[in-house]
Amino acid sequence: MTMLFSQNRINSGHEELADYSTIFCGVGPAAMGVFIAATRTGRLDSLLHRGVLLVEASATLGAGSLGRYPITANSLSEAFLEGAAAAPVRSWLNGVLTTQPAARLQRLSERRFPLLAGANFLAEIGKGLTARLSRSAQSGVRLHTKVEGVSRRRDGLWTVSTRAESGGVVEFVAKNVVLGMGGQQLPSHYLQQEIEPGIRLAAYADKVAASDFILRASDLELTEYLWSRAREDASVEIAIMGGSHSAFSTAMRLSSLIKSDGKNLPLMSVTIYHRSAIRLYYPSSQAAQKDDYVFDPIKNICVDSGRVHRFGGLRYDAFDFIAPVLKKTETISWLRMRRVGPANANPEGRSLHAELSSADMIVAAFGYQPRLVPTVDERGHELVFRTDPDGALSTAGTGEVLDERGRVLAGLFAFGLGSGLRRSATAGGEASYDGRLDGVWLYQHVVGEIMVDQLLGAEDGSRRVDRRQAQATVG
Ligand SMILES: Cc1cc2nc3c(=O)[nH]c(=O)nc-3n(C[C@H](O)[C@H](O)[C@H](O)COP(=O)(O)OP(=O)(O)OC[C@H]3O[C@@H](n4cnc5c(N)ncnc54)[C@H](O)[C@@H]3O)c2cc1C
Repeated sequence: MTMLFSQNRINSGHEELADYSTIFCGVGPAAMGVFIAATRTGRLDSLLHRGVLLVEASATLGAGSLGRYPITANSLSEAFLEGAAAAPVRSWLNGVLTTQPAARLQRLSERRFPLLAGANFLAEIGKGLTARLSRSAQSGVRLHTKVEGVSRRRDGLWTVSTRAESGGVVEFVAKNVVLGMGGQQLPSHYLQQEIEPGIRLAAYADKVAASDFILRASDLELTEYLWSRAREDASVEIAIMGGSHSAFSTAMRLSSLIKSDGKNLPLMSVTIYHRSAIRLYYPSSQAAQKDDYVFDPIKNICVDSGRVHRFGGLRYDAFDFIAPVLKKTETISWLRMRRVGPANANPEGRSLHAELSSADMIVAAFGYQPRLVPTVDERGHELVFRTDPDGALSTAGTGEVLDERGRVLAGLFAFGLGSGLRRSATAGGEASYDGRLDGVWLYQHVVGEIMVDQLLGAEDGSRRVDRRQAQATVG
């Protein structure tokens, strides 16, 4: 039975018929960043006073999908800790830093660390946030509860339909809705990407796997999958398609499996097919020059921090893995790189089609699309969202979603994996970066602050923060 939840009616101005000012649909690392940013900048009380509802399908806020990947993080542990560490004294975030997961991350400072350790720390923050929200008269949390649909009303407010694990179905009304349900790799997207004229993975669909599957698989699952693709002579030719983090994480995942259990695996030969030049992160232009790394001194440098490829460059583990190969100071016997695209014919004369036809397994590492729920307008018609060529949701600079004709859907926000904000002058980063502002540090700083600005509106503008802080931080 559907019922309209009405105990929390907010009775001011436009919001008089709303239960909440803002409903967060899914609270992983991205949405939780908003609350950390609000706390750091002294605006949490304003946000909670207006009434926010956090609806999360799992048992905990904050960790999201991160703990499901048995791989190391592509950021330093400081990037996870810094937001909480910068919170004012006597805030709900202080206690989080004395927990065991925080101590574990602190011990891993400056070193590679398992994503699971980061997720455990974020879950600890999530518990702190749940406790903080339980003391708010206007705001609340619904764990073990799925958002099933979102609809726009005639008065411009939004209705969010939820179903609790226990079966209860409840609708809530809000002025703003934030979609933060994470991302997924859809076959309908990755099979249709045109890699070279006329070449799409759809032609090889029976041997294509999404990189997310490889990255989430346990050692046992991955080993069995590799054997299921292997030839009779116990060899397996793997093509990884894509040139960004997901592609290199996939190669590194295979590398760590080879290191831990190489004798029990088929003999792998892996090619990474990438369209643009591989970008490497350096902390400064001097460091890049010292390494003879060629970069564009205008487009590739973050004006705020002076870092090279601050947002788009491979760093830490991924850097250590591939930089020596790119510099040709080292080789990895089982790995080769091949640039594709109309201008990049294979020097050995073999066409991309021939190579993909002979591969035993193809890994699509083309980024993420948003996880969404059915969303309808005031007449019950499905709202079709505009997406970018990478399949991610297009949003306005405010973070609001666009409809298929490019019109802003006022009050409907999205960010996090598979959607969300792109780089802008205020966000920092290198001008050449055309990806999303994704990553825990960004969610808790740049992205979180933009979202707090939006959700609190202009009247709270006096508390807006200077985002040009990259130099002092680790993000
Ligand atoms: C392989 C990989 C490695 C990464 N490594 C790093 C890293 O090292 N450092 C870094 O800073 N960033 C990293 N990122 C980027 C980014 O930080 C993560 O992707 C992060 O998990 C994104 O957070 P999110 O909240 O957008 O999505 P998610 O983590 O997926 O969280 C979404 C949340 O929404 C909930 N949800 C989903 N559907 C519903 C529904 N219908 N109703 C209610 N709730 C719902 C889920 O339970 C979940 O809690 C990585 C990304 C990937 C893919």
